[in-house]
Amino acid sequence: MIRLIQQNIFLVIIIVVLIIVIATYVVNTDKKKSEETAVREFYALGTIIRLRVDGKNGEEAIQEAIDRLNIIENKMSVFKEFSEVSMINKNAGISSQEVSTDTYFVVKKAVEYSILSEGTFDPTIRSIVSLWRIGSDNPRIPSKSEIESNLKLVNYEDIVLDEKNHSISLKHVNQAIDVGGIAKGYAADEVKKVFEGYKIKSALIDLGGNIYALGTKPDKNLWNVGIQNPFDTRGEHIGIIGVENKSIVTSGNYERYFTREGKIYHHIIDPKTGYPSESEVISSTIISDHSIDGDGLSTGVYIMGLEKSIKLIESLKGIDAIFITKNKEIYVTSGIKNSFNITNTEFIYKDNL
Ligand code: ADP
Ligand code: MG
Repeated sequence: MIRLIQQNIFLVIIIVVLIIVIATYVVNTDKKKSEETAVREFYALGTIIRLRVDGKNGEEAIQEAIDRLNIIENKMSVFKEFSEVSMINKNAGISSQEVSTDTYFVVKKAVEYSILSEGTFDPTIRSIVSLWRIGSDNPRIPSKSEIESNLKLVNYEDIVLDEKNHSISLKHVNQAIDVGGIAKGYAADEVKKVFEGYKIKSALIDLGGNIYALGTKPDKNLWNVGIQNPFDTRGEHIGIIGVENKSIVTSGNYERYFTREGKIYHHIIDPKTGYPSESEVISSTIISDHSIDGDGLSTGVYIMGLEKSIKLIESLKGIDAIFITKNKEIYVTSGIKNSFNITNTEFIYKDNL
């Protein structure tokens, strides 16, 4: 009898120990899963993309984001013959092209930013950008007459948006649009949406320097995003901004350019001249809630000149900017004076113009 009781107690002890072991294992793997970081680096939208997700389901979320990015690229790239944007361009001056909600929204936003930036941002710049072939293997300096004749095709007012039929047309033959100055911003916002669908609380979305910092770092501190030194292409930064749920987009002359006879020709074209922008600004960063706003504005204000740009950004609620000039001065708008810190002493912080 005693033996039987002893045996039973022994069995109960074994079961309890087993339950404890299994429970600890389950809790631990669950904890481990929530502490996981998923990172992927790949090429899309003509640039290097880095996605980092902290927490559960990171891998799945990243895979869905990649699929979404490919869809956006297929619809909007001018390098894909049958993308929706290419079809708008092929039908220029002839007919209207029905497009998806994605493309309609991006072109509509591009027109909005053209108006806001007084035409310094202008998606109809395509006919000039294609003359320069900047970013391709064989860039060139177009002749004055080529530029003069193609400049006649640059005018965002010739983009006709038909909301009812979801279609877009260009008024004149040979006109063409290029949403390269704004599409990455839209893509970053869409990646953010995918991540939010997975209830992700902490992620860093980097589409070739077009950054969205989702939530905070896993340790609950702000994300520290470096602002690149425009004089140094090795990825050195000149300062750091602490952010949470913000987009940080920079347009700079160091991203895509070529050199001829010692002169740098970069990829942001002034629609007034048809030549790379020559304002005193060589890097413009926009900090905003939506990355599409940051991308559209950063290209526009890069060309606009310092004074007008600061005025424009100060007039827009919830949007801030960091400008770096040729002579290494840094101008920062009022909303981020406390969150931006210069780390490179070669640069001079200017409080006012
Ligand atoms: P990146 O694409 O290198 O991040 P931007 O967002 O500043 O840089 O956009 C530059 C791209 O936008 C160019 O490669 C070109 O396709 C297009 N672009 C160039 N100049 C203009 C302009 N004035 N307005 C609108 N788009 C432009
Ligand atoms: Mg841009």
